[in-house]
Amino acid sequence: MNLRWLLGNFTDPQYHISRREQFRLSNVAHSKYVPASAFWARTAVIAAPFLAAFALIEPSLAWAGLQRNDVARAAAHAAVVVLFWPWCAWMYRSLYARPVRMAMRDAGYDVCLGCGYELRGLDDTVDRCPECGESRGTVAFEIEDSPVKSGDRQ
Ligand SMILES: [Zn+2]
Repeated sequence: MNLRWLLGNFTDPQYHISRREQFRLSNVAHSKYVPASAFWARTAVIAAPFLAAFALIEPSLAWAGLQRNDVARAAAHAAVVVLFWPWCAWMYRSLYARPVRMAMRDAGYDVCLGCGYELRGLDDTVDRCPECGESRGTVAFEIEDSPVKSGDRQ
C-alpha cells in the first residue's frame, strides 16, 4: 500500500524519485499547475475545522475538570494533530496529485495524469492508459472536485 501521500509525496514509488527531485516537482506543480485561488481555498477548508478542534480543547478540558492537567492538554493536542493529519494530507493530495504528475511529464517521465501509472515502453498506438483509461495526451489541468471538467473523459 502506498501511503507516501501522508508525507506529501504524490509520486508512485516505482519511479524512485529522490527527496530533492520530489521537492522540485512539487514546487513546479505548485507554481505552474495549481491556481493560487485553488490552493488557498483548499487550505481554508483544511484549516477551519483544524483550528476549531484546537479551539475546543480548552473548553473540553475545563468541562472534564482537567484544565490544570498538562498531560491531558498535551494528549488532546496530539490527538487533534494525529486525527487531522490523514485528512489534511488527503485533501492536499486531491489537489496536488495531478499537477505533480503534470510536472513529472514536464521533466520527461511518461506518466498517466489520471492515475500515475508509468506509460513508458507502451506502444505509441496506445492512446489510453491501460490502468484507468485516461487519454494519454491529456494536458489540461483539472481540479478533481471542480464542477467544470475539460477533456474527453469517459
Ligand atoms: Zn491511468
